[in-house]
Amino acid sequence: MFDINRVATAAGRQVYRLMANICVCARFRPLNSREDGEAICITRSDSQSFSIKDEKDKQYTFTFDRVFYEDSEQADVYEHVGRPIVRDAVNSINGTIITYGQTGAGKTYTMEGGNILEADNRKKGLLPRVVDELFSAINICGETTAYEIKLSMVEIYMERVRDLFDLSKDNIQIKEHKGNGILLSGVTEILILDGEEALTNLCRGISNRAVGETQMNAESSRSHCIYIFTVQKQVTNEKRVSSGKLVLVDLAGSEKVDMTGAKGQVLEEAKSINTSLSALGKVITALKSKSPHIPYRDSKLTRVLEDALGGGSQTALLCCCSPSLSSSSESVSILRFGASAKHIKASSRVSIKEDIDRKLDISTVKDLKLQKILKK
Ligand code: ADP
Ligand code: MG
Repeated sequence: MFDINRVATAAGRQVYRLMANICVCARFRPLNSREDGEAICITRSDSQSFSIKDEKDKQYTFTFDRVFYEDSEQADVYEHVGRPIVRDAVNSINGTIITYGQTGAGKTYTMEGGNILEADNRKKGLLPRVVDELFSAINICGETTAYEIKLSMVEIYMERVRDLFDLSKDNIQIKEHKGNGILLSGVTEILILDGEEALTNLCRGISNRAVGETQMNAESSRSHCIYIFTVQKQVTNEKRVSSGKLVLVDLAGSEKVDMTGAKGQVLEEAKSINTSLSALGKVITALKSKSPHIPYRDSKLTRVLEDALGGGSQTALLCCCSPSLSSSSESVSILRFGASAKHIKASSRVSIKEDIDRKLDISTVKDLKLQKILKK
């Protein structure tokens, strides 16, 4: 889905030019028990186009890079959206996958699956598949290349970035580093030695999210959850280390909360989500119209996603929707958001940053396995 044109440049720095736009897909989940017997508002055309009618019988047609209908499998989503991005991340090209949609539309199911340790392969979401692929790609590269994978997890709740591996860090600052893009200052980075360890840590991060929920009386769909894998790579006997970042974002529910009557925490949460998602919409509009000023600084979410949207990354946006007629107006607004993002050209360069004269702490995959045995 992504067409990347590799452009050779000066020694010590390689530049890749992304030829693709942001990849935008729609995913419809099956009707749930609450919607049982309801009319479906989607008419399929093909794997890229469909039409949707709202409750006033108005018809809208959308064309995306891919449409995953109610009978689509988690594996289909991974094949089309996950795999190409993960493969490139192993080769130091940044990638971002974002799920967007109203609460209950299937964002977390798409991202995590039934749960992160899902035994049923059919239900496995993007995250466990990403983890499998990362470690199998590394094993294929085998003896000649050393890899170091680190994992961070944060959530953005009420305009604060909270570290899900260290709850005492509840207001992480977002900094811009020349050459390295956007960084979360002081965020916990866990060195991951294999897939099993990655999944255990993802579970821990997710359960910390739940701890936060009860402390703050928030629902997880009231925050944006961000998973960051940093993959560093060093070819044996070479001094240069290149680095790729793979970012997965499970956004807060996009539904418009009726603010009339909302009070206290609920009102503040609603305002904060409105701020960040409308800031995201404004950034997309500004990028689409090639405006000289892109308002990334209007929210924490757009700051964190600056690389993903501004061209420093290949990015996929998954618009998750219910197929039911009663949700059709929300779905149309989600799909319009996606249609707008589709116009963004990820045309700027992705440069592989190379640290000269640095040696990775872990030198080979064999050492990686040895370290794991020693740790036990
Ligand atoms: P969101 O994160 O968008 O609020 P969830 O991912 O939690 O929504 O989905 C809501 C419910 O619908 C969950 O019980 C989930 O298991 C189910 N669900 C979502 N998408 C699918 C799907 N594609 N197939 C089967 N069940 C799904
Ligand atoms: Mg969710």
